[in-house]
Amino acid sequence: ASRWSLNGMTALVTGGTRGIGHAIVEDLCGFGATVHTCSRNQAELDKCLTEWRSKGFLVSGSVCDVSSQSHRENLIQEVTSVFNGKLNIYVNNVGINYRKPTIEYTAEDYSQILAVNLDSAYHLCQLAYPLLKASGMGSIVFISSIASVVSLGTGSVYAACKAAINQLTKYIACEWAKDNIRSNCVVPATTNTPLVEHLLRNKKYVDEMLSRTPLGRIAEPEEVSSLVAYLCLPAASYITGQVIVVDGGLSVNGFQ
Ligand code: NDP
Repeated sequence: ASRWSLNGMTALVTGGTRGIGHAIVEDLCGFGATVHTCSRNQAELDKCLTEWRSKGFLVSGSVCDVSSQSHRENLIQEVTSVFNGKLNIYVNNVGINYRKPTIEYTAEDYSQILAVNLDSAYHLCQLAYPLLKASGMGSIVFISSIASVVSLGTGSVYAACKAAINQLTKYIACEWAKDNIRSNCVVPATTNTPLVEHLLRNKKYVDEMLSRTPLGRIAEPEEVSSLVAYLCLPAASYITGQVIVVDGGLSVNGFQ
């Protein structure tokens, strides 16, 4: 197999109907992978699947709420049958955020944010492990956030989940290297997706973000998905346990 191709490889990408996940599905397909994705909305999923198939991409999908344990089990059962028990790539993309000051989070907010962002990532890794191992060449990519590295002012519950994911990346890299499974983490800053539409309409937020970002603009989803795809390629075969920031220079900017 070519070092720069995913031909013949299978991938699971959670949350592929919008934003960064959608771009990841397209990049992995573009490199030749066969992809299974999920979201909670059947109609939106069907629309995406139709579009992808018309582009010649090999994509299947199922409705799944990754915050539910039984949904996660069903998802992996489906992936097992679609890909005959072998999975090369697992991209843990789903994430949600409600930004509030720490004092204002309710117990329900807290458990919802943890269930979607962290419980799902942990449990889906456990469930995907036998499939990744069986493929003989596995790669996990987590999608974290710049909020795991620097404070964005509000949203501490989300930030704590993402920081946990950064460390989970490293533990899994060390534990599962013996099974030829690599584990890496991509850390985006503000990216132009429906998740942050409301923030991107807020001129004060955007101006402040841009003034601190050396590249002076917000990322497009494709600028994040290209790193995800790279990390899955055989070309990245010696890269594991890494947490890599895609932020236009935001987090290294001391003075501006
Ligand atoms: P979007 O909200 O634009 O897209 C999220 C995708 O996940 C949709 O396909 C959505 O479909 C699906 N999804 C959401 N919740 C669930 C769920 N419980 N079960 C299954 N599918 C679900 O998000 P982004 O593309 O912006 O974010 C992707 C990742 O990138 C997240 O982990 C986020 O934290 C991270 N990130 C994003 C940044 C940004 O600025 N956009 C910055 C830093 C990190 P549906 O709602 O129909 O289920």
